[in-house]
This record gives sequence, structure tokens and C-alpha cells, in this order.
Amino acid sequence: MPGSWSVELVRVGAVLPAVLRALRADLSRYLAHAVWISPREIDPAIAFDGRRRQYLATALLQDLLDIPIQDGVHRIGIAQVDLFLPVFTHVFGAAQLGGPVGIASLHRLRPEFQGDPRDPVRTRERLTKEVLHELGHTLGLVHCRVPWCAMGASRLPEQVDLKDAAFCESCSDTIGVPADGERM
Ligand SMILES: [Zn+2]
Ligand SMILES: [Zn+2]
Repeated sequence: MPGSWSVELVRVGAVLPAVLRALRADLSRYLAHAVWISPREIDPAIAFDGRRRQYLATALLQDLLDIPIQDGVHRIGIAQVDLFLPVFTHVFGAAQLGGPVGIASLHRLRPEFQGDPRDPVRTRERLTKEVLHELGHTLGLVHCRVPWCAMGASRLPEQVDLKDAAFCESCSDTIGVPADGERM
């Protein structure tokens, strides 16, 4: 079981600072571990694939790794570009399993991406769930079969909506998050 750990959020390109502040508030209220916003930023341009017109998630993970990182820090990049991995049409995020870095993107989580009206509350909830999911991978968690657990796999925003912004008891135990943490 991981010992003491903390979460560092890093802006990746044009993401409003308010998005990271809201995320920090949501995560620190729930996790009972320190969460802070890095003064560093990552430019996603080098990860752009001109043929797919998307951004290669693993290239951005490498960029996040290139900034020196202290023991126990789990660094999650927050992007607003369309991420992909070669075998998938798109991903909401990606992470190193048991490694220090992950990334999540708002791009496809926004209801307006599917032509629905803007819904900042829903977008914020979806991003929080997706960041918890990628953070869980960096802490060694694999996909979970508890239907509402944040570690459930999702390929569509509607599937993200079915999850809670929380880990199930077993996943919570594994990573040292209080199972009775305040739920949103
Ligand atoms: Zn996953
Ligand atoms: Zn779980």
C-alpha cells in the first residue's frame, strides 16, 4: 500500500486556471491528501498528430515526467485537447500504472462536445471523476468492477456520469483514502 502521497495538478495548454482551482477544491475535500497546483505548465503542441488531429497522450505523460518530481508526488496534467492512444479512437485520460504521472482532458467531457447545452457543474463532476480515475492508476489501481467506483472503465461521457466521484471501499483501502471520506 502506498504510504504518504500528494497530488500535483499541472496545466497542459489553454485550460482556465479556475478549472484547476475547482478541481483542487473537489479533490482535497475528498482525498484527505494534499493537493496543489504547480506553477509549471506544459505546452501540448509537440504531442500533436497532424493526421489524426489529436494529441498523443503518452507524449504528454513523458513531458510531465521531464519536470523533476519528488517522492510521493502524483502529478496529473489537466488538458483541454483531444487525447488519443494509438489503439483507441480517443481517451479521456491516461496514466502510468503505479508511476508518478497521469493526464486527463476536458475535451470530450464537456456536454457541448456532443452538441448538448453547456453544463459547467456536470463538466466539473466529470473531470473530477476522470482525474480520480487516472490518479488511482498512478497509485497502482487497475479497473474495478464495482459499478459506481471511480476506477470503472469508461469510453463515453454517459458512462462517467454513472460513476461516483469516489473510490469503492476496496480501492480506497488499497490507496489509503478514507472510505468514509466526504462524498460530493
Ligand atoms: Zn483506466
Ligand atoms: Zn473500486
